[in-house]
Amino acid sequence: MNVIIFGPPGAGKGTQAINISKKFNLYQISTGDLLRNEVKNKTELGKDIENIISKGDFATDEIVNELIKTAIFDKNKKNKLIFDGYPRSLSQAKNLELMMNQSNQKIDFIFFLNVSKDIIISRIEKRKILEKRADDNLTTILKRYDTYMMTTKPVLDFYIKKPNFYEIDGGEKINEISDKIEQILSV
Ligand code: AMP
Repeated sequence: MNVIIFGPPGAGKGTQAINISKKFNLYQISTGDLLRNEVKNKTELGKDIENIISKGDFATDEIVNELIKTAIFDKNKKNKLIFDGYPRSLSQAKNLELMMNQSNQKIDFIFFLNVSKDIIISRIEKRKILEKRADDNLTTILKRYDTYMMTTKPVLDFYIKKPNFYEIDGGEKINEISDKIEQILSV
């Protein structure tokens, strides 16, 4: 099965994606991680995106579309994908549908983790201490939230009509959220 997990920054997408990937033997495809790897490995691409990420802006659709392509067309990962942080724009969502079609796959479950701005701010302030991410400061958090609302909201409007769309309260405890997702995936 292939799964999308999306929601605002700090909604717990990464944590849930890791849980699900372990439990259901899926590959977590996190565009945030893929982008941070480019920065860490000081690739040509990495130099450009370091600035973008630290400002709280989005990487271009071309960059992220290219990054996920390898995973989608990897035979070993076929029908074992969990997308975390992708798609984040309507054009990415449409590109994903196209690539899934081209690789004879489909998205089986779409989870939207819904969380209020207040919870996000307090969570990211905590994560800042634990993970020391350059983009986890208050100004960037607020910018990332606004960018999310502007760019990712159309993704929500696009998916909400689908029969395999599930909205989950991302304000609940990690294990409560995991239980809900696992229940849906196990049916
Ligand atoms: P995340 O780890 O998912 O919170 O992503 C961290 C940052 O990476 C985001 O704030 C964006 O700057 C960038 N990013 C991650 N995924 C995408 C995407 N699908 N499209 C554009 N930018 C992205």
